[in-house]
Amino acid sequence: TERGFSGYFWKAVPLPIQEEPKSDEIRFDGQVAIVTGAGAGLGRIYALELAKRGAKLVVNDLGGSRDGAGGSQAAADTVVEEIKALGAEAVASYDSVATPEGGAAIVEKAVEAFGRVDIVINNAGILRDRTLAKMEPSEWAAIRSVHLDGAFNVTKPAFMKMREQGYGRIIVTTSAAGLYGNFGQTNYSAAKMGLAGFMNTLKLEGEKYNIKINAVAPVAATRLTEDVLPPDLFEKLKPEYVAPLVLYLCADSCSETGMVFNAEMGCYNRAAVVTGPGAIVGDGVAPPTPEQIQQNWDAINDMTGAAESYNATVALGAMLEAFNPKSEST
Ligand code: NAD
Repeated sequence: TERGFSGYFWKAVPLPIQEEPKSDEIRFDGQVAIVTGAGAGLGRIYALELAKRGAKLVVNDLGGSRDGAGGSQAAADTVVEEIKALGAEAVASYDSVATPEGGAAIVEKAVEAFGRVDIVINNAGILRDRTLAKMEPSEWAAIRSVHLDGAFNVTKPAFMKMREQGYGRIIVTTSAAGLYGNFGQTNYSAAKMGLAGFMNTLKLEGEKYNIKINAVAPVAATRLTEDVLPPDLFEKLKPEYVAPLVLYLCADSCSETGMVFNAEMGCYNRAAVVTGPGAIVGDGVAPPTPEQIQQNWDAINDMTGAAESYNATVALGAMLEAFNPKSEST
């Protein structure tokens, strides 16, 4: 038929399917991003990649050594120059994230220079590795103050600005050491897992203002890992492989919030806290005995059908549901 004939010709016209549709392109034009610890390693790459896609940057770095000692303006200044060479805008901030004054100054820098804050990447970090047996309170405190307090100090003033704007994207940097454990890093693991808790609640508080917060656990070749990672992998573990996931989570088009993602070498996956179905032990009137816990251990420990909970109320609800007399009990 004529219709079939013209259909044939329509199909024969080559379609420009090679190019990605323009609407999918992730851009940050007109947006302002703060990246802490952006003078080196992962933070530097995040800052450069955001700038290449139109963001204006606050490059924060106190320029200290791996354990946080000392300081120099050179680290942040160099990255600011690199960004300007790309034709993008950036300002340097040399404040430490470890104090509330430092955090406030970093956010003020963004507002003074560019008038708003759309993106905060909490990335600054140091290491003070030591087994617990040898760990000094000062080594515990130094790690907590940069990683955990640091995220509070910077995110709080930025969050206030984001609330006003009705928009924000926040990243916290967690770690496999916190999510799974790593010998000699109780201080670092505790701070990194603390950031997951911070995120879990801030996702709820940011919900109605379109503020999304996610956690990224990177693995990348930087000075933090140069003596830890196997040399053959070190070459392949470029920070450039972590940045695409971080940039996606910072995009307007990304509605994800409250999630943890591992990112390394081109491998990306999500990690989550899940809760097993558990068991009802005892009669629900008197507390059970430790022996009853022992007897029911396999059921308590069983993770078959384990599920995530969006918040503590949902998790508690699931537990209370188990007390419903109609539901089966052990
Ligand atoms: P890096 O040492 O190359 O970069 C960290 C930067 O943070 C440095 O430039 C440092 O000067 C800066 N910094 C430190 N303390 C600061 C402070 N108080 N205020 C402002 N800036 C400060 O290390 P990296 O590997 O790029 O680490 C970036 C983040 O990723 C850290 O939070 C780290 O814990 C985390 N992380 C890295 C890996 C990895 O494999 N590299 C793994 C898990 C987590």
